[in-house]
Amino acid sequence: MEIVLESILLPGVDEQRPIVIAGPCSAETEEQVMETAKCLANRGTKIFRAGIWKPRTKPGGFEGVGVEGLSWLKRVKKETGMYVATEVATKDHVFEALKAGIDILWIGARTSANPFAVQEIADALKGVDVPVLIKNPVNPDLELWIGAIQRIYNAGIRRIGVIHRGFSSYEKKMYRNSPLWHIPIELRRRIPNLPIFCDPSHIGGKRELIAPLCQQAMDLSFDGLIIESHCDPDKAWSDASQQITPEVLDYVLNLLVIRESNQSTENLAELRRQIDGIDEQLLELLAKRMRISREIGIYKKEHNMPILQSPRYSEILEKRSNIGKQMDLNTEFVKSILKNIHEESVQQQMIIMNK
Ligand code: PEP
Ligand code: MN
Repeated sequence: MEIVLESILLPGVDEQRPIVIAGPCSAETEEQVMETAKCLANRGTKIFRAGIWKPRTKPGGFEGVGVEGLSWLKRVKKETGMYVATEVATKDHVFEALKAGIDILWIGARTSANPFAVQEIADALKGVDVPVLIKNPVNPDLELWIGAIQRIYNAGIRRIGVIHRGFSSYEKKMYRNSPLWHIPIELRRRIPNLPIFCDPSHIGGKRELIAPLCQQAMDLSFDGLIIESHCDPDKAWSDASQQITPEVLDYVLNLLVIRESNQSTENLAELRRQIDGIDEQLLELLAKRMRISREIGIYKKEHNMPILQSPRYSEILEKRSNIGKQMDLNTEFVKSILKNIHEESVQQQMIIMNK
């Protein structure tokens, strides 16, 4: 299916990359919204975000101020001249947001993962001309993301953009949501004229990751950034650790190096995609190797054998580093990787022995 889009640029918003959307995770009080909005507007932000209805992982948390907050966003528009954006997850949210004159709607990551919910929003948008930004679904499923885009497109919406906010994983590591950059890169290849925003707040989950993630997104030719900014981040009622003050936001944006997209960036993105794929394969192979190690551990336990068998280890090290040498790999490098892998295997087998 061909997707022909219209520009999401609103009058007065600079067309130079990045298009910036900033504002708090949640609208909390009228004062917090107005104070944050004024600070952002004074520093040049043109599009303000704030969540009114908040999807929370567990019940009992702050679930957003609801309709009341829409009047605060109206005040932001009136008093600062910024455009305002909020998240919609149901048809009622769409009706209320449109009634309040919200300029941009976004669909959250949990909603994008649910075709029934996206269809309900699409049906509510029929005959309406409003820009809609679609976050990636929480799970790394490009087809599901594209499906959500198609549902909104089929409703007649032509000003569509997407937000890359990372993908959730069972094990929380450095990022709150793994970026898996190859997914938005593949989306760009499939729908080239679709504007892509990066949400470094939800990817990183930590303030200090916002600047490097913004730079990476710019280096990958993303069009915009949506960043959580709060006048007093430590006191935020949701996502406190990933929000920055308008002052820090200004600093982060000023540090960004914007390289003009040209053929060489395209090539770079393609090469990086290959690297991402290879790294994934490496990890899969490592996981497989560890599974086999554990099987060996079980065998050794059943047969009363010791874990460490030094002749075998020396043999591995020697043979493998020779093979590596023939492949033009630095011997020290190969040895250090093998040593690490071996250590982890021993560790895994010790866990089995002690069970
Ligand atoms: C948000 O933008 O505050 C939000 C809830 O994001 P996500 O849907 O990406 O979790
Ligand atoms: Mn948030």
